[in-house]
Amino acid sequence: MEVNCIALGEYQANCYVLCDRTTGEGVVVDPGDCNNQLLSLINLSGIKTVKYILLTHGHFDHIIGVNLLKEHFPNALTAISEPDKICLKSVEHNLLGEKYADVFEEIKADIILKDKDLIKIGQSTLKVLETPGHSRGSVCFISEKDKFVITGDTLFYLTAGRTDLDGGDDEQLSNSIDKLMLLDDLFAVYPGHNKGTTIGSERKRNRYLRHRDFYKL
Ligand SMILES: [Zn+2]
Repeated sequence: MEVNCIALGEYQANCYVLCDRTTGEGVVVDPGDCNNQLLSLINLSGIKTVKYILLTHGHFDHIIGVNLLKEHFPNALTAISEPDKICLKSVEHNLLGEKYADVFEEIKADIILKDKDLIKIGQSTLKVLETPGHSRGSVCFISEKDKFVITGDTLFYLTAGRTDLDGGDDEQLSNSIDKLMLLDDLFAVYPGHNKGTTIGSERKRNRYLRHRDFYKL
């Protein structure tokens, strides 16, 4: 599976475009906007059909391009976890805030993601891993075959997602990162913001893991 990335929107959330080259089926993860650059990236990736729009969580900077993207790919199915589904309807929960209540268009969830769900894209498969902590319903997407994990705002280069927003929980985030650390060192990490990394590098150098282990002493 080929993976391409484009940072979108005011908060430069990483949107990932995944294509199974053998079939031309593709997936867009976390469209924080839908501009011409995203549409040409989808095109250049060799995608003939966007099968799914997958959401790692419901914060507005990861979801705000969904409806526009669906205008271009009306058959794409939008998938999010049950706890974060409410973010697709509520500016309070997706953190856009009340001042945007009149302009925010609700987003329809077609599929509810659960732990260990397998998402087929052509001959490739992504596995869902529930990783709450940054939000109630954060999930990661794992490709065992291509050895990568899309971590949303759960795990970043050298650090981890914030837990001070609605639904955030330190202990849950800690457990979620432990689950990610079960992956082997070679897994590429494609985070929701900033640059990519690997599980091996984060195991050694991640500030969040170091501080957490320090406090456990
Ligand atoms: Zn977030």
